[in-house]
Amino acid sequence: MQPSGQRTLVTGGAGFLGSHLCDALIRRGDDVLCVDNFHTGTRDNIAPLLGHPRFELLQHDITLPLDVEVDRIFNLACPASPVHYQHDPVRTTRTCVHGAMNMLALAERRGARILQASTSEVYGDPEVHPQPESYWGRVNPIGLRSCYNEGKRCAETLFFDYHRQYGLPIKVVRIFNTYGPRMYADDGRVVSNFIVQALRGDDVTLYGDGSQTRSFCYVDDLVGALLAAMETPAGFTGPVNVGNPAELSMRELAECVLRLSGSPSRIVHRPLPPDDPKVRRPDIDLARQALGWQPTVSLDEGLRKTIAYFRLLLNA
Ligand code: NAD
Ligand code: UDP
Repeated sequence: MQPSGQRTLVTGGAGFLGSHLCDALIRRGDDVLCVDNFHTGTRDNIAPLLGHPRFELLQHDITLPLDVEVDRIFNLACPASPVHYQHDPVRTTRTCVHGAMNMLALAERRGARILQASTSEVYGDPEVHPQPESYWGRVNPIGLRSCYNEGKRCAETLFFDYHRQYGLPIKVVRIFNTYGPRMYADDGRVVSNFIVQALRGDDVTLYGDGSQTRSFCYVDDLVGALLAAMETPAGFTGPVNVGNPAELSMRELAECVLRLSGSPSRIVHRPLPPDDPKVRRPDIDLARQALGWQPTVSLDEGLRKTIAYFRLLLNA
């Protein structure tokens, strides 16, 4: 692999998505600086990269200022699972908002391009379905999920104000539910929960009546979208939805995981968490057109790979 000569910063690089992104950037020849405070990320995620001559790890909290030489910044640092981001909500908002301000200030100082990992949560519990980028969302500003939803919305505002006020080249990407190897066994997200429960033979916990829907994107597809978004022409800012529009109910997901894992587990019902969105599916017309991107990994194929990962991890 020829070095690209480009130095790329990934905040949250030791997390689930960030570590896969670091892998891909190293593969394409970039010098990669991974910045992470290990709040939810782990050294295990980046273990294969430690010692690589073009990979550097800096343990740092992005709520504090940072000055490094970089050409590209992927701002992914933020806990993403509801269990994690609700554990210390004030810290979550601080990471979203102060973290964005620090990374934007760095990008401006260094003349770097910067991409924000935003989220489908900016649409809240949507009345428009599927969600196009033009939809402003329906978000509870004072609920348990607000630290994340409103934190991410404020980060988007900061990105666009830096763009308008200082001409900063920005890319805002709204990521829909993504799954794959290196999700954490205990972070409470539905795909990892169901797989771990199925492999252990434990009850599979379906919240509410299981009719709420999500649309799941395999991590390799998602990383392809982040790379493509960063390299779009300077005039393209987004926001752009990235995700897999194949939508299914949580009951269907539970049944699919049980079938693919060959598990004897039972499905049991638990209360629906407050403000849990009833439906979610990305409209990805803009991603198709502006990024030349669309997902290629089916749910069955992605779940098989993820189940294989957890089998090894759990020795199940
Ligand atoms: P993750 O929790 O696995 O990774 C987040 C990483 O950020 C971790 O390594 C954590 O240690 C680090 N981090 C958190 N706060 C930090 C801080 N203040 N300073 C430095 N590092 C910090 O989550 P993920 O699933 O990899 O998500 C990555 C990004 O993508 C997040 O910004 C999330 O909001 C966004 N996103 C993810 C999904 C998804 O389905 N995975 C969906 C929408 C948006
Ligand atoms: N969910 C579930 N059982 C679980 C974990 C989650 O039924 O063990 C549901 C949850 O209520 C939500 C969906 O699965 O409707 C997705 O939850 P997740 O936390 O993965 O992501 P988000 O709510 O942020 O989309």
